[in-house]
Amino acid sequence: MSRYGSAFYQTILPAWETGIRRRPTLSYLDKLEESQWLDRDRLLELQAMELRKLIHHAFNHVPHYRAVMEKAGVVPSDIRSAADLRRLPILTKNSAHAAGSLRASTVEPFPTIKKSTGGSTGQPLQFGYDPNSEYWRIAVKLRGWGWSGYRPGERMIYFWGPPPGTQPPLKKRLKIGVDRYVRRETYIDCTIRSDQQLAHVVETIRREKPKGFICFSQSGSDVARYIVENRLRDWDTIPVLCCGEQLSPQARGLFTQAFGPAVFETYGCREVMLIGMECEHHNGLHMSMENLVTEVIVREGDQERPARPGETGEVVLTDLHNFGMPFIRYANGDLATLTEDTACPCGRGLARIATVEGRVADSVRDGNGDLVCGILFSRIFSMSDALAGSVRHWQAIQRKDRSVTVKLVLLRELDSVSREDLRRAFERYLKGLPCKIEPVDEIPPAPNGKRKTVVVEA
Ligand SMILES: [Zn+2]
Repeated sequence: MSRYGSAFYQTILPAWETGIRRRPTLSYLDKLEESQWLDRDRLLELQAMELRKLIHHAFNHVPHYRAVMEKAGVVPSDIRSAADLRRLPILTKNSAHAAGSLRASTVEPFPTIKKSTGGSTGQPLQFGYDPNSEYWRIAVKLRGWGWSGYRPGERMIYFWGPPPGTQPPLKKRLKIGVDRYVRRETYIDCTIRSDQQLAHVVETIRREKPKGFICFSQSGSDVARYIVENRLRDWDTIPVLCCGEQLSPQARGLFTQAFGPAVFETYGCREVMLIGMECEHHNGLHMSMENLVTEVIVREGDQERPARPGETGEVVLTDLHNFGMPFIRYANGDLATLTEDTACPCGRGLARIATVEGRVADSVRDGNGDLVCGILFSRIFSMSDALAGSVRHWQAIQRKDRSVTVKLVLLRELDSVSREDLRRAFERYLKGLPCKIEPVDEIPPAPNGKRKTVVVEA
């Protein structure tokens, strides 16, 4: 650890987070650092204890879940452990949309933090959570990312996409800038990837000598390819954290050549944040069991059952600490496969996912022929509540002539502000290309059953 990094981590961060802001984030982190080493049975007990509190709260104070449990003939005392959760139905995106504000708690804590997601499978959602859930989310991220050697205060390069909407006000931008400066984080926009932009990334790596490179899997792998093809690596191992998308074996190979073997896949979604993360043994993704119950479920007609190790199923999440707007058995639209349930050589008791399938947004090309990050589209559909609340499903298609069609299944007509937001985002990121919106009744999955958010016609 560098001298500044250790001062930041051991003094500045606790003084700010615990002393001034009086937030419990770091005490949650301490708990998580210990609990990861517990054996599986003890972790399941801890999880069950938190789950029982959540279920009681949801039954008593969240109208949607009260109705769901009454309909299922379930009372809170029936749910003793994660295995009992299967007595409750799965919350789909459609049912979450339909339930609307009935999913919010009627007593404190209220969901004061509001967010939207564009959805990794093209289904947007508006949701909320309470501050305590935020502290858990941050603590879970700090622990998981910490397995890669990440520490706040160490130099990091983020190859990341800024939010595509209108810029935040100056005061907020200044606050973000100061925060990044103090934390020594350098952000480089990954949305458009010209050779000039890739050369700029390499220059920044050489100048900053970062302790980590944090990126979306696809756009980061373009940097890696550029480094490998042009033989630019002149640094020792730099840990890489791959976020947002599945990490393919090819991309992992490129990262390994460009940055060394410390390549870490992470899995999360905006609704609950970090779900799983690789440890130093790169042996599947350890799940954040203390904050989430993650089920992998196979549906057969009206029936459902847990997927067997090696079998692909739907990811179904229960957030143990979001009391403001609970997610109980929420299917976020992703598909995953569990590992064989053998012990990881690292010694952590946390169960593992082998892989999250099909979560890859292909890159498109703009009018200059430069690559544009496919995740851009899901970020566009999360940039305002009006957009996320009007669109049930979206899919972007780049035709052979490079024109872009965005298909939308609408819940209601787009208002003029949303239309203007879309127009501006397309104009900014898809320079020189004709883009059109096409309302449709449905977006069928591809023949292999997967729904792609971005389709590039060869
Ligand atoms: Zn491990």
